[in-house]
Amino acid sequence: MKVVVVGAGYAGTFAANRIARKVRSAEITPVNPRPDFVERVRLHQRLAGTAAAATPLASMLRDGIASRVGTAERIGDGVLTLGDGTDIGFDYAFLAMGSSVRPMPGAVPVGTWEGAERARAALAALPAGGTVTVVGGGATGIETAAEVAEARPDLRVRLVGSSVAGGFSGRARERVRSGLAGLGVDIVDDRVTEVTDGVVHLCSGAAFASGLTLWAILSGVPGLAARSGLRVDPEGRALVDEYLRCVDDERIFAVGDCAAVPGARFACALAGPQAAHAADALARLAEGRTPGPYSPRYVGRAVTLGRKQAVGQFTHPDDTLRRGYVTGRTAVLLKELASRGGKFAARTGTGA
Ligand SMILES: Cc1cc2nc3c(=O)[nH]c(=O)nc-3n(C[C@H](O)[C@H](O)[C@H](O)COP(=O)(O)OP(=O)(O)OC[C@H]3O[C@@H](n4cnc5c(N)ncnc54)[C@H](O)[C@@H]3O)c2cc1C
Repeated sequence: MKVVVVGAGYAGTFAANRIARKVRSAEITPVNPRPDFVERVRLHQRLAGTAAAATPLASMLRDGIASRVGTAERIGDGVLTLGDGTDIGFDYAFLAMGSSVRPMPGAVPVGTWEGAERARAALAALPAGGTVTVVGGGATGIETAAEVAEARPDLRVRLVGSSVAGGFSGRARERVRSGLAGLGVDIVDDRVTEVTDGVVHLCSGAAFASGLTLWAILSGVPGLAARSGLRVDPEGRALVDEYLRCVDDERIFAVGDCAAVPGARFACALAGPQAAHAADALARLAEGRTPGPYSPRYVGRAVTLGRKQAVGQFTHPDDTLRRGYVTGRTAVLLKELASRGGKFAARTGTGA
């Protein structure tokens, strides 16, 4: 059985390793734009110089799985076509391309390897007294602003978002905001309308100079599914059935950020479980058995505030907020365990 996996992030790497464990006859080919596994949840650390965030992909894949460096351009009729024109035939395919960033002109994106590398170089070149503006009041923006402020206390760091830490409950939200303030981050509750010639313009009409503007918002997904004629949701995520197969082609599974799973948001925490479920579904189908349906289950969400602080918020399985939250060393430890756990799960194809 030939299986091609598009994208070797958390979901794709997990799926490839899980299929190798479950379907002995499978010949698995992951396709990824670079020969590294990128720990996307550490890209804010990468740009601030507190983590490496890249591991050779070969060391993340089980023996016998050979990945291919390339970018998928089109999929359909049992064939995946790469950017260089190569066709790879498949019996089953897994779409695991993750999510995208759409930065405003003048801003550098945090959420891709290339963007983080550009940001890292620009940050290193910024002299003491310079200003960094981080756009996005969600987890990525919070973690980026805090990481930069802690690593470069000689800079002025602003975090601009319409609802900074809005994904946390009242008290936890206050702890996130006071943690940011404690690191010297200025929180600006507003929206950015334009970044021109090093000046950030806001909805309120205010404007300020910014030596480096970082775009810390994930939005949309790579266009492979849409341009291949697979049905997608408004964000471009492939529509899937209860087993995570594309609704237009039962040979193609979609997992992780690029899958339109009802109730799912962009999250590393869901990438592994979805990959596990889809790989297990493939194994069952191969044996002529019926797989079980998938539904996302959450336990919480957490942000780091530099290397010494974090806030974790517990949630109900449907991702609605509980009142409970943790801070301090416990939260730092839990968040670090979750980040390491995501990588470990991808490498072993277990634990999700
Ligand atoms: C700074 C930061 C912090 C984050 N923190 C958290 C967190 O604490 N908790 C959490 O749950 N989530 C977090 N996230 C979100 C999390 O990183 C994503 O939800 C997760 O990476 C999704 O996994 P994935 O496997 O679907 O996609 P990815 O990990 O993005 O992997 C997708 C892979 O597909 C490749 N690809 C894309 N297009 C193609 C193509 N056409 N052909 C071949 N390959 C392709 C990409 O290059 C990449 O290697 C964070 C994100 C960022 C940026």
